Amino acid sequence: MRTSRCLVVTEPERMEMREYPIPSIGPREMLLKVEMVSICGSDPKKYQGTAMWAVEWGGMPFPFILGHEMVGFLDDVGAEAGRLHNVKSGDRVVVEPYIACGRCRYCGSGNYQLCVSRHTYGFSKSCATPPHLWGGNAEYLFIADGSKVHKIAPGVPAEAACLLSVIGNGVRWIKTRGELSFGETVAILGPGAQGLATVIAARQAGAERIIVLGLRRDTIRLDLAREFGATHTAIVEDTSQVEAVRDATDGEMADVVVECTGAAASIALAPELLRPLGRCVLVGSMGGGKTAAMATDRWTLRELTIRGGLGQAWNCEDAARIINSRRFAVEKMITHRLPLEQGEEGIRFFMAGHPECIRVALRP
Ligand SMILES: [Zn+2]
Ligand SMILES: [Zn+2]
Repeated sequence: MRTSRCLVVTEPERMEMREYPIPSIGPREMLLKVEMVSICGSDPKKYQGTAMWAVEWGGMPFPFILGHEMVGFLDDVGAEAGRLHNVKSGDRVVVEPYIACGRCRYCGSGNYQLCVSRHTYGFSKSCATPPHLWGGNAEYLFIADGSKVHKIAPGVPAEAACLLSVIGNGVRWIKTRGELSFGETVAILGPGAQGLATVIAARQAGAERIIVLGLRRDTIRLDLAREFGATHTAIVEDTSQVEAVRDATDGEMADVVVECTGAAASIALAPELLRPLGRCVLVGSMGGGKTAAMATDRWTLRELTIRGGLGQAWNCEDAARIINSRRFAVEKMITHRLPLEQGEEGIRFFMAGHPECIRVALRP
């Protein structure tokens, strides 16, 4: 019987390596040999056992395997799955985080990121019972019916490929939620991986001006933002957000603002950066009952739209095209790599928030 090494979260803030049997694959299922997995900004809360969804469910399903941003090679492909996804054993693919039930009203309307089953890789199911392999922090991943996979060209660095869903988020916030048109101006608050993915999506969508606001400690991230196509960057300790956007737009302000910091002051300010008919997408605002006071007059006076932005759905198709095109050096967002066995060290390092660290990736 074949087994898979897995990095298992056994209880809050505790991981250990375990081996689980590799399950046999049904006609609609597949098996991935993981090449690389990135630690997501949402992983620390799952590791700590305080992820918002899990709190809603009444607790995390310990023990579980973290990791939902993975690239690898298909090791086994069920006959129906092969036809459905147009893949075969040996193909290099990224697996999307969401597993759609395919039957609920959200799946039915193409919004499977809101599927009522709330089933995602990397934390929604315990690894204690078969098929065990529900997370990317492992040698092998079980790919359930309802998953989506995207082929990755051989020359693409694994570091770029594993960030496909992150780029998908940027595409969602710019294209689907922000409704950006060619030639418009985008302001992005917070240059973490999600903010940088938003820069890439804005560039791809033909934004004329891309303004990225960060802190003094974000120097490396702001440099990368410029490399990805940001036309203006500013440090908010030196200049106010409103002033920075006003200066960059000759007083016209932005068409789309994407708020990625999740800081209450930044959320409150985000609509102030918009011109009339502007769209504000709030993506960093999760974090347990946050409130932000906003001056609402302008929403009406300028006919603003304020929207939430969650995860990518069909936007991963665009993200796969962006990654396979090699137009952007997406891999530069992975600043640190570790073997799977040191994954707990990796997540702790990531959580410490070192300015030189954007994303940490693990190699099984
Ligand atoms: Zn993620
Ligand atoms: Zn569903």
